[in-house]
Amino acid sequence: MSTLRFHAIKETFNRVPIEVNEPERRSAIFGKNVFNENAMRQYLTKTSYNSVIDAVEKGTKIERHVADHISTGMKEWAISKGATHYTHWFQPLTGATAEKHDAFFETVENGQAIEKFGGGQLVQQEPDASSFPNGGIRNTFEARGYTAWDPTSPAFIYGTTLCIPTVFVSYTGEALDYKTPLLRALQTVDQAATAVAKYFDKNVTKVNATLGWEQEYFLIDKALAASRPDISLAGRTLLGHSSAKGQQLDDHYFGSIPSRVLNYMRDLETECMLLGIPVKTRHNEVAPNQFELAPIFEETNLAVDHNSLLMDVMDKIADRHNFKVLFHEKPFAGVNGSGKHNNWSLATNTGVNLLGPGSTPMKNLQFLTFFINTIKAVNDHEELLRASIASASNDHRLGANEAPPAIISAFIGSQLTEVLDELEKVTNGKLSPQEKTDLKLNVVGKIPEILLDNTDRNRTSPFAFTGNKFEFRAVGSTANCANPMTVLNAIVAKQLISFKKRVDALIKDKKMKKDDAIFNILREYIKDSKRIRFEGDGYGEAWEKEAEKRGLSNKKTTPVALKAKVSKESIALFEDLGIMSEVEIEARYEIELEEYAKRIQIEGRILGDIARNHVIPTAIKYQNILIENVRGLKVIYEKDFKNFAGEQMALIEEISEHIAKINKGITALIDERRQANKIEDIEKLAHAYCEDVKPYFEVIRYHCDKLELLVDDELWPLTKYRELLFTK
Ligand code: ADP
Ligand code: MG
Repeated sequence: MSTLRFHAIKETFNRVPIEVNEPERRSAIFGKNVFNENAMRQYLTKTSYNSVIDAVEKGTKIERHVADHISTGMKEWAISKGATHYTHWFQPLTGATAEKHDAFFETVENGQAIEKFGGGQLVQQEPDASSFPNGGIRNTFEARGYTAWDPTSPAFIYGTTLCIPTVFVSYTGEALDYKTPLLRALQTVDQAATAVAKYFDKNVTKVNATLGWEQEYFLIDKALAASRPDISLAGRTLLGHSSAKGQQLDDHYFGSIPSRVLNYMRDLETECMLLGIPVKTRHNEVAPNQFELAPIFEETNLAVDHNSLLMDVMDKIADRHNFKVLFHEKPFAGVNGSGKHNNWSLATNTGVNLLGPGSTPMKNLQFLTFFINTIKAVNDHEELLRASIASASNDHRLGANEAPPAIISAFIGSQLTEVLDELEKVTNGKLSPQEKTDLKLNVVGKIPEILLDNTDRNRTSPFAFTGNKFEFRAVGSTANCANPMTVLNAIVAKQLISFKKRVDALIKDKKMKKDDAIFNILREYIKDSKRIRFEGDGYGEAWEKEAEKRGLSNKKTTPVALKAKVSKESIALFEDLGIMSEVEIEARYEIELEEYAKRIQIEGRILGDIARNHVIPTAIKYQNILIENVRGLKVIYEKDFKNFAGEQMALIEEISEHIAKINKGITALIDERRQANKIEDIEKLAHAYCEDVKPYFEVIRYHCDKLELLVDDELWPLTKYRELLFTK
């Protein structure tokens, strides 16, 4: 009997919900472990406080002597909350967060000790960073990397450690993390959007990109997860026949949340409240044991930090509740995968959502300006946007059999489609007073304020307008949002800069009125970006054909998709906007290709191990039972034995066939891997893993899954889909 599987199932059956302590009111504990404005007012001098606020709001530099004061205040606050250590908390290109804890504790003369945390330690650290991915940047120059304080994301206490959000850069200043280019992109979009927003309101001095992510995940019992080598090491099942019941009955989505899970969520949300992560929504998702968590949106840099932190917290709290969180985009074949919808918009310092329709024609023209420019940006840079969400795990969602395609398109709903159709007809050149009045009354003025409630939804669109924001749905559940957010904000910034130039030129050279000029340019953009707009079923085959006709890219695998990151246009875009240098871009490209190859390599090894060392031996055991049976029947029935043993004999043969296919598949897989590993060029290596190695996964899996259906359940060593997905 396969002991591990049945032990794990037994353990799971015996679980009881873990008790949790929830505060009476969440608002009372919100941000309690964050060095936020409240805490700063209490622990900092007025000068220090103002200096931090200026840095956050205006991007000014914090003087070193002020930093000394801030660090002292921060330390006192942290110690008062039980912190003993501090760490620079950053997001290297591994996808995880990194931290190295140092105690506040320091010894002084005479065998005495004090708690110390100086400005220097707050502002800059030099982690021994040689083992973080760097795409060759640090090797070429200098082995050191620096972390530097990012005052726009507040410090927080996690456990007993004061965590200080930082950027991570090389000695020569190249970004080695996700945050640095994101901050640069956010600054760029701020400037570009502010300049355009001033057409409509002179009081706008700052525009923040906002982000509300929706985190989908699976929750599996810890013991069950540990019983499967593939889940333990790769975060997904590499084989396993689908359960007789999956999600066909649609009975999980928004269903009642199982009590063990609910207690996990309550515990998690309490921790989130303390950390100032404004989580608000929780529900069951479509697949069994799949759930979602969403916050109230925030400024993008903070939202990105909060998502990274959340994923870490989710892991830790899950352990307390005897669960394992699966963030993988496709942990189980045949049921829905997980995404991380990135809801995105632009908000002014005057409190206006630039993607929210307003109450007057002028406000609606402002809305249309930002709305149409965003669509144009996506149209012009769809390949780069696709590249920003490419990863080995997201490949299972984008372009795979049962998932949305890898085509980027934008959905805007029928009402706005009508508006754009009308706008497309405006006169080329100056508009007559009559036309303008008509436009204002009948087109622009007609955009309903309550669009939010009226917009039709299209769940199949990768980039959908949902009433007052765009929702980038193709982002994978494991992704660090910084990557897609850097690209989205960069392309919108570039678009807005070029829009402003053209409008200004019409005003200056053609003596046009401001709104005439805006209408003229918007009309051109609507025409130029038609191919990206798609309102139909994004999952259908017809769309793939149609998209091809429209010249939209459909890059189904990561090595192919990533290439757009290093195209001439992309490099020019990032360099012109000062977001990334060519060296930084090339380094990232290399890191992502390498990561891709490594992930496939690891999965290939795991699959080889499971198939050869778990599945085949089990199949042989069962086959031997059958053989014994046939032998016995032959003794009893002699010549007639085939009347009784025929089916068993057919089974024996069937098992042998599957075993042969699996074993040959693994041999071929290993051969291909060997060949691939000889390749030095990283691009070619990634392609080899994608095109030569990975195809064997399907073949091997197919035959293993067939054996699962044949072999005695008592013998089967791998916890089955029905057990993983339906044990609560
Ligand atoms: P759904 O898309 O599932 O219907 P909602 O529309 O309520 O759900 O919002 C989903 C997410 O979008 C939430 O995280 C919410 O905070 C975020 N969101 C709402 N408005 C904005 C905005 N202006 N900018 C960015 N995110 C937003
Ligand atoms: Mg949504």
